[in-house]
Amino acid sequence: GGTIGMVGGGQLGRMFAIAAMQMGYDVVVYCDSADAPGAQVATRCVIGDLNDHQQLTAFAEQCDVISLEFENIPAQAIACCGQQAPTFPSHHVLATAQDRLIEKQTFRDAGLAVTPFLQVSSAADVAAFAERHAWPVIVKTARSGYDGKGQYRLQDAEQAAQVPWAEHDAWIAEQFIPFQREASVVVARSRNGSVRCFPPFENEHHNHILDVSFCPSTLTQSQIANATEMASKAAEVLDLVGLLCVEFFVQEDGRLLINEVAPRPHNSGHLTIEGNHTSQFQQHVRAICGLPLGDPNLRCSGAAMANLLGDLWQAAGGNPPWNQAFSVPNVSLHLYGKRDAKEGRKMGHLTATADSPEQAAQNVRDARQRLSCDSK
Ligand code: ATP
Ligand code: MG
Ligand code: MG
Repeated sequence: GGTIGMVGGGQLGRMFAIAAMQMGYDVVVYCDSADAPGAQVATRCVIGDLNDHQQLTAFAEQCDVISLEFENIPAQAIACCGQQAPTFPSHHVLATAQDRLIEKQTFRDAGLAVTPFLQVSSAADVAAFAERHAWPVIVKTARSGYDGKGQYRLQDAEQAAQVPWAEHDAWIAEQFIPFQREASVVVARSRNGSVRCFPPFENEHHNHILDVSFCPSTLTQSQIANATEMASKAAEVLDLVGLLCVEFFVQEDGRLLINEVAPRPHNSGHLTIEGNHTSQFQQHVRAICGLPLGDPNLRCSGAAMANLLGDLWQAAGGNPPWNQAFSVPNVSLHLYGKRDAKEGRKMGHLTATADSPEQAAQNVRDARQRLSCDSK
């Protein structure tokens, strides 16, 4: 037992709290509303602002160890927590992972393959980058983007002039990668330095938002070995404790590039709750509490996850017919307890396990399909 602090009250904090409390820990969530998905299920919550160091200290004093569930937290807030209790990931890791420029530079310096990039601040900078790397160019805010927010796919200099350059301090241009597929590896690194990787998840995005993940992926054995090695090295380079998700592009020639990392449980790992011997959330608890890491391998022949976005609620008149999903074999529903079903907002997910990843993916899509049609 003991008390784990979780900074952030979103769905990742919620699923973490459920796992940790099952394992005998108390969980204190720090967030801005008692209604937040994580606060609803935690042992207790402390309501406060991320810039309120007095309130953060009052929270941190209650904890034996502290973690977080999103990377866009002021690094100072995490440093403040770290003065009261061991905090993983550290504010150093956070400072790297919350800035796409620093993150890519760190990995490139360590010899890891990343998407070609450049810091830009104007349409002219993008045009110069495109001269070397060709159009289209992907421009992203260096900080605070998620679910594709703050991203622009630019075809020419004219489009580059439309980017709201003045709205953010720092921007990154990336070469557009015409990838074959996308995959991710969640790696756990424990307080004692032991490292274990989940098998790669294969990910399909829709409008730059994760749509469906499945496992095992279609990566070759050598790509799996490569992805696992790169993810482990990324965790070592950051000196991370906890979980790191490394997102990869599989290029047309089969080689891997790191797209980005997240120092926390990841949406693509949600299928581990039903699909794997140890879920990513339980593994996170193990890593930060210094417990032996669990077996990350699949415990079925195929697992898949489909996100449920706010759009679905709109399509189903505010009330999706949940029973319809349960007529598909081995489907599980996870709702995050969010009330406001805004377009593009992650409200929940479905998982399916089956005899193969293809079947699991088909079943999870089928289950989701049944929720959006008004079949009373
Ligand atoms: P999240 O953290 O939720 O994954 P994010 O806003 O940080 O989202 P990215 O992972 O950078 O977003 O991009 C989201 C998706 O957009 C990628 O998974 C990929 O499908 C597409 N994308 C991003 N950058 C590129 C690129 N350079 N080339 C091709 N596709 C890209
Ligand atoms: Mg991201
Ligand atoms: Mg991403």
